Amino acid sequence: MTDRLRTESGAPVADNQNSQTAGTGGPIVLQDQHLIEKLARFNRERIPERVVHAVGSGAYGSFVVTNPDVPQWTRMKMFERPGKETEVFARFSTVAGSKGAPDSVRDPRGFALKFYTEEGNWDLAGNNTPIFFLRDPLKFPDFIHSQKYDPFTNQQEPDNVWDFFSHSPEATHQFTWLFGDRGIPASHRHMNGYGSHTFQWVNAESERHWVKFHFKTNQGIRCLSDEESARVAGANPQAHQQDLLEAIEGGDFPSWTLKVQLMPEADAASYRFNPFDLTKVWPHEDYPLIEVGVLTLNRNPENYFAEVEQAAFDPGHFVQGIGPSPDKMLQGRLFAYGDAHRYRLGINHTRLPVNAPKAVEGGTANYGRDGAMRFDTPPRQAKNYEPNSFGGPVESGGAAYAGLPVSGASGATGTVQHEQDDDFVQAGALYRLMAEEERARLIERIGGSLAQVSRAGIVERSISHFRSADAEYGARVEVAVKDARGS
Ligand code: NDP
Repeated sequence: MTDRLRTESGAPVADNQNSQTAGTGGPIVLQDQHLIEKLARFNRERIPERVVHAVGSGAYGSFVVTNPDVPQWTRMKMFERPGKETEVFARFSTVAGSKGAPDSVRDPRGFALKFYTEEGNWDLAGNNTPIFFLRDPLKFPDFIHSQKYDPFTNQQEPDNVWDFFSHSPEATHQFTWLFGDRGIPASHRHMNGYGSHTFQWVNAESERHWVKFHFKTNQGIRCLSDEESARVAGANPQAHQQDLLEAIEGGDFPSWTLKVQLMPEADAASYRFNPFDLTKVWPHEDYPLIEVGVLTLNRNPENYFAEVEQAAFDPGHFVQGIGPSPDKMLQGRLFAYGDAHRYRLGINHTRLPVNAPKAVEGGTANYGRDGAMRFDTPPRQAKNYEPNSFGGPVESGGAAYAGLPVSGASGATGTVQHEQDDDFVQAGALYRLMAEEERARLIERIGGSLAQVSRAGIVERSISHFRSADAEYGARVEVAVKDARGS
């Protein structure tokens, strides 16, 4: 039997094909509640898109531990024994484009994970690169303005992209990555994911390690050339969404092996690089990768809006055994992500099914109350303050992670420089590890893009950054710009 079509208030809809008019063929009347309600709801179907990472795809899966040694380093329950499984939601995204922009563009990819652990949700809002353009969150809004649509032309402008870069030498490493072959993954399945920031792991004895997370794709790295990317984008802007959906529907479940780099707490002060600088990696020869477990995605969301568009990842969502480092970009994100979700989705976004913890109570086990779209009803006569004499949840007394030692006066200070820190050393290392064919493609892409810049000074400053990374690199970019300009 077909169900009755009903209005928002539950009344049967008599006619869903003809709106009410004053007389046959006359104007529409205001009393047509069904029409007004239907059009009004339609107008409100979209919520503000994410300012960054607007274009994305999501899937559910699980994480399974393979290494019995992890409790040495962290008391996180999800890693307590091999074979332990934790449900996960993952969202992959491009950064700069607005909704509807093609998936297959040259852009970093978001690689955001929500682990529904038995002690609450742990969110790791990472990227497909282990580094970032910046090391201070104060520069983030300016950086994004320079990469997104220009306020006058309403499109991405090489002038803005390169102007920002030319004034931000610390971005040389990430620009080298972005214009390298891995700048356009062939799909969400064929790229690595990185937690990028340095985090702290704390074990049961309260010993601390600094930790970096690497999710290595088991599908193999595959990338698109600029020509392939343009063809894919023209044929199907949602090509990577389709690829992920169809792979999972067809039982071809993508997986990633999680590896970590671990630094004993005491090493940080004397390490050759500042280990909390997001523009740098920890070279593998200093801190080798240690396998921890496997992430597999095996279930598509039932509804894109409910589960992917409303998914909210927050780097501040820690559980027992993991916490922040002094990485300034991470510290900035601890504020910015929750704030973005409160603006976009509202104060009760943590109650939405995709965001709510699964194994424990979340928002009902505290004294935060009310707000727009609060659906659940607290228990009868429950108090909304703590401490109280009437029962209700009480504090645990066990801090999730250890505090960070600090000294000195507060002030607008730059990041502490370690022995080998400069803005270019690792950009040069990346350039030199590329095979000659990849170097040639890197140079041609950068040259072609820089050649579109109109303002004198921007190109020269940019080339000087590449030259500081590697003299050959800079010299070849300079030639490539001239070639692309035909001068
Ligand atoms: P290693 O020689 O130990 O490792 C090189 C790393 O570079 C591998 O992780 C490899 O990934 C990755 N890589 C290879 N080609 C590219 C490319 N075109 N774009 C981006 N990454 C690529 O080197 P080090 O650890 O000493 O680091 C040297 C440089 O490698 C760094 O400056 C950094 O740019 C890059 N890198 C380093 C990582 C780290 O955490 N140490 C992680 C990723 C990159 P894979 O093994 O998956 O092929």
